[in-house]
Amino acid sequence: MADPRGFMKHRERQDRPSRPIPVRIMDFNEVYERNERGIVATQASRCMDCGIAFCHTGCPLGNLIPEWNDLIWRDQWEEASSRLHMTNNFPEFTGRICPAPCETSCVLGINQPAVTIKQSEVSIADEAIARGYVEPVLPQRLTGKTVAVVGSGPAGMAAAQQLTRAGHTVAVYERDDRLGGLLRYGIPDFKMEKHHVEFRIDQMRAEGTRFYTSTEIGADITWDALEASYDAVILATGAMVPRDLGINGRELDGVHFAMEYLVQSNKATSGDQVEGQIRADGKHVVVLGGGDTGADCIGTAHRHGAASVTTLAIGKELPSERSDHEPWPMDPRVFELTSADEEGGERSYLASTVEFLSDDAGRVRALKVAETQYNPDGSRSPKPGSEREIPADLVLLALGFTGAESDTLTEQLSMDFDRRGNINRAEDYQTSVEGVFAVGDAGRGASLVVWAIAEGRAAAAKVDEYLEGATRLPAPVKPS
Ligand code: FAD
Repeated sequence: MADPRGFMKHRERQDRPSRPIPVRIMDFNEVYERNERGIVATQASRCMDCGIAFCHTGCPLGNLIPEWNDLIWRDQWEEASSRLHMTNNFPEFTGRICPAPCETSCVLGINQPAVTIKQSEVSIADEAIARGYVEPVLPQRLTGKTVAVVGSGPAGMAAAQQLTRAGHTVAVYERDDRLGGLLRYGIPDFKMEKHHVEFRIDQMRAEGTRFYTSTEIGADITWDALEASYDAVILATGAMVPRDLGINGRELDGVHFAMEYLVQSNKATSGDQVEGQIRADGKHVVVLGGGDTGADCIGTAHRHGAASVTTLAIGKELPSERSDHEPWPMDPRVFELTSADEEGGERSYLASTVEFLSDDAGRVRALKVAETQYNPDGSRSPKPGSEREIPADLVLLALGFTGAESDTLTEQLSMDFDRRGNINRAEDYQTSVEGVFAVGDAGRGASLVVWAIAEGRAAAAKVDEYLEGATRLPAPVKPS
């Protein structure tokens, strides 16, 4: 255990420092900076090493949190890195962008601010990479079995890394021109710079994983051809179908899905010339819907130099924007911590958008918005007579996602989907097609990076078992 009296000596929580707002909104670099090792160690010493550590179960990966807090306090960074990598393939991702359900579970949180677990995680990961502790892990033997992973987001990456290390020959197919899924083209650099993804892709290449970009399965290669060519296939294709708002004026110029805006901005940040890029410079921007996607639009719009940024949420508070199966945000504190929220903009709750209003040129000029009223049957609707106009030159729809893309999977593999639009899978992550497994957002619906990694690890264990009859790989979570 770290300092047994640490939690009594150091009652104050010290998070990672962030760059000043006026400075950081001038670029897309990461908002948060590294903390001094001494502060990280003092903070780690607040961990009580509870007899029953609820943080283990709060984390879908089952991270061994008290153990690495102790090792940080003892200045044993290499050992801390080895414990951390036992349960998490990519701790520098989660240490940056996870809403940290582990901290919500921290027992110290009952009467003091929770231990800075996320800071411990990112500090170990960054320190380990900087000191060269993170090296390729080569398989001890090759099985001769082949696995195709479709999609290179965190779920696909985690599954591919586990299976390559178990000795299988793994190929990852990605339709985008760059690897990383939403880590690459959804999440902006101010939350996580892309060199973190590059580092892991390089590590995976050195371990033997093969990557094929700009290759869409279902179009460039059919699903049935892929299935026939590999011993197992993992679908890690995400849940990319955006929820739309079918009201008058939806077709107007200037009304876009949030992901159109974010993908283009991420490409531009990576140095691409994006012709006709949707930008917010000097515009009145309205973001519909909250959550991570909405927050990323806010942060991006501020960096583009928007004249104003307003977020409208139909519910009382942002969490009610989400359906029950979407597990985040779990804690209102997440909103306090969202860097984009600190950077400015207005938020309006209980605001139902009724119509997008046009100027003479067919561009959006305003939204007609009414107060949300709750009906006796629990449904919500715009309150008649309460309408007002909000000026807008750019409207971004961040209303969540309705599931996985299904067309080619249904046509070519007769794949089953559940009523929420997610790929149906059994306890072993296997879909309705034998030898084809589904992980991450594609199977559980829009979720979190930590769940994608956890499912990727767990599905890899099931695929290994399917191919070899037994497995030694860990399976931290079951499909939900
Ligand atoms: P994805 O990351 O979606 O990757 C799927 C990949 O599959 C994509 O690269 C796609 O191009 C590829 N693909 C799809 N179909 C095919 C095909 N037919 N052939 C080849 N390739 C294909 N979570 C957090 O924990 N913290 C955050 O701060 C956070 N911010 C977010 C911000 C935004 C804007 C969004 C949209 C999500 C955010 N999330 C966040 C959620 C998180 O990004 C996802 O839960 C996670 O990326 C899911 O991982 P995945 O591997 O299942 O799928």
